[in-house]
Amino acid sequence: MGGGKVAIVGGSIAGCAMALAAARGGAERITVFERAGAELRDRGVGIGVHNDRYAELEAAGYMSDAMPWGPLHRRLWTVRDGESDLGRTIATQPFPFRAYNWGSLWSELRRRVPDGTDFRSETHVTRVETDADGAIVRLADGSQEHFDLVIGADGYRSVVRQAMLPELAPAYAGYLGWRGTSATPANMPPGGEEEARLVVFPGGHCMMYLIPDGKEGHRMNWVLYTHPPADSGLDTELRTPTSLPPGRVATELTTYLRDLVAEHFPPYWRDCVLSSPEERTFIQPIYDLSIPRYASGRLLLSGDAATVARPHIGGGSVKALQDAAALETAWRAGGDWQD
Ligand SMILES: Cc1cc2nc3c(=O)[nH]c(=O)nc-3n(C[C@H](O)[C@H](O)[C@H](O)COP(=O)(O)OP(=O)(O)OC[C@H]3O[C@@H](n4cnc5c(N)ncnc54)[C@H](O)[C@@H]3O)c2cc1C
Repeated sequence: MGGGKVAIVGGSIAGCAMALAAARGGAERITVFERAGAELRDRGVGIGVHNDRYAELEAAGYMSDAMPWGPLHRRLWTVRDGESDLGRTIATQPFPFRAYNWGSLWSELRRRVPDGTDFRSETHVTRVETDADGAIVRLADGSQEHFDLVIGADGYRSVVRQAMLPELAPAYAGYLGWRGTSATPANMPPGGEEEARLVVFPGGHCMMYLIPDGKEGHRMNWVLYTHPPADSGLDTELRTPTSLPPGRVATELTTYLRDLVAEHFPPYWRDCVLSSPEERTFIQPIYDLSIPRYASGRLLLSGDAATVARPHIGGGSVKALQDAAALETAWRAGGDWQD
């Protein structure tokens, strides 16, 4: 199925990969609408990719060794044990993953978006509608454009999904991920560079591993999962899909999380988390979303716009890339636009 005008809403991991897939499939014109600035805001956090998934995505041409990464072999589950600096390890599991920095992963995907793609930063899509032979994209400046196919790669609050499945919305899972990075700690335990550490505490856990910092060094990436305090009022607020970037995190919530780390973490891992600069920490409430179908007429969903995978499996970005590989295969096998 060659030719066609394709719009992609969202230019993050799924959006760049979908642009690559559409180009490989033979789309005639590709436009990416991304509401953020030219450099998507890089919060510098980690993305884990299972070795087997990497091998599949490399074979499909959606990942490569040009994307800086670090190997992970084991994950260690650790609890506080009195004043023991490193705590007590209660379980060790194989963890055959590659550790990426989100920013480097995105930059490399962005670099691969073919020349000729009309990548429009700072362009907000307000609404998408279908008509007899395609779909209309409406922009915040009041203009509109017609396409043969519109792909939603616009994350879990997708406007493309609203057009396709207006009755579905992400559901707050009842807890949040507090994320950040700190400088690589001194005196890491032997082998620690290639281990993921999970500190377990009542009501949650925190995962930590080194990621490339994009400048040939490393940073310690961490994400702590727990529920917000019952009396914060946040719980109700989070039922409306949102994220809390640096500066918007309520002071009392930050204090709550810092106190929790100080009380429950072994000292070495506590210092890793608490030494993170405030501007490098942010909160992502955890949502669940799945949909009955990925395509309807001339609309198609991808990445988090379609399904949000809980972050514990390290699979959301991977799924976005798999969606692109699947689109490319389907496109190459397809007939014409009427089919
Ligand atoms: C705590 C946590 C840890 C995670 N860890 C991992 C991991 O280890 N491994 C892994 O594979 N995945 C992980 N994930 C999941 C991963 O981050 C997401 O699945 C992935 O980033 C989704 O990419 P996306 O491109 O679909 O969506 P997004 O990255 O959300 O991008 C959507 C884009 O669309 C743009 N946009 C939105 N609306 C509009 C609009 N109306 N008009 C124009 N542009 C718009 C946005 O600006 C944004 O750039 C984790 C997620 C969380 C919360």
